[in-house]
Amino acid sequence: MNLFDVYPLFDISPVRAQGAYVWDDKGKRYLDLYGGHAVISIGHSHPHYVKRIARQLYDIGFYSNSVQMPMQQELADKLGELSGYENYSLFLCNSGAEANENALKLASFQTGRKKVIAFKGAFHGRTSAAVAATDDTKIQAPINQTDNIIFLPLNDVAAFAHALQEHGSELAAVIVEGIQGVGGVQLPEPAFLKTLAAGCEKVGALLILDEVQSGYGRSGKFFAHQHADIKPHLITMAKGMGNGFPVAGVLIHPDIEARHGMLGTTFGGNYLACAAALAVVEVIKEENLMENAQQIGQRLMNALRQLPGIKDVRGQGLMIGVELDKPCAPIRKQLLEEYQIFTGSSSDKNTLRLLPPLCIGAREVEKFMQAFEAILYQTEPQSI
Ligand code: PMP
Repeated sequence: MNLFDVYPLFDISPVRAQGAYVWDDKGKRYLDLYGGHAVISIGHSHPHYVKRIARQLYDIGFYSNSVQMPMQQELADKLGELSGYENYSLFLCNSGAEANENALKLASFQTGRKKVIAFKGAFHGRTSAAVAATDDTKIQAPINQTDNIIFLPLNDVAAFAHALQEHGSELAAVIVEGIQGVGGVQLPEPAFLKTLAAGCEKVGALLILDEVQSGYGRSGKFFAHQHADIKPHLITMAKGMGNGFPVAGVLIHPDIEARHGMLGTTFGGNYLACAAALAVVEVIKEENLMENAQQIGQRLMNALRQLPGIKDVRGQGLMIGVELDKPCAPIRKQLLEEYQIFTGSSSDKNTLRLLPPLCIGAREVEKFMQAFEAILYQTEPQSI
């Protein structure tokens, strides 16, 4: 049987990983500044993580959501404490798309409405409502196309005010990424997020913050929107939550009531997923990874801003977009093949994304900067 051929693949086959490094089947070591697409938060194969999941598997790996699972409450408590959302509720599921799907569904249940404002450049996943709110018609099948979603330019207060006037009474939700990832690391301005929160309040719609990529400490705070000091009604998370184990969640405002059977998923919040997610929150706290993301990210961005051929350096913490004055694909290839460093692309072909594990240090920054500088000077001899 063949694999369904939907992913363009690098010619590399990783077999082992530790911290910020990955080894291939030939024993070659790579520095991972992509983190498997922002998934690796505490570092590959962290010993505490490995032990917690392994021990759990010896005891019990799975039953179903029809029994008491105190581990889920333990996760909710630790997550509440670390994120500052103690009074919210947690719904556990398995992927970023599923978390957004459920958040959109909750907003629609709660308001009885079906229109949603989303933003140009947004990526929310590939399931039905999530892909409909994603600004990419190439990944929407005819069944996903709907006129319920209104796409607005990010940070455009006037366009938002106009859309509220026109659609406010039919609006179920506004969905926005804490920092747009796939779209090329575009930051919503704090004042814009505040405008969205106030607008939602005014028309009785719910504000959904998609923190699937920007959350879990990556921005230097637990969630990127916390830089703007707002409290959304729904917050979705995935990627970094399980450090590679598929686990996702929706944080739900206390005013939103649960009804039995309203949401559900077979695998959501299983014992192994809880063990993985608990290990992640424990390590983020224990190793001060949010502070590290903030400091190392700042250092990396400052260094990048000194280089030639760079139009813009955007980001917060360890979610960084480097916009070049030309397509970044050849540079990513060179970084990988000559310097053994993984980096990410984005839907903006000139913007390279850095989404490393939150545990990287000065040594990894130095290694990357040397390689990147060598490549940029090589391709820009006039600017030496
Ligand atoms: N939201 C955002 C902001 C994302 O970056 C992604 C994945 N790139 C998703 C949702 C979808 O997550 P998943 O692939 O786990 O469904």
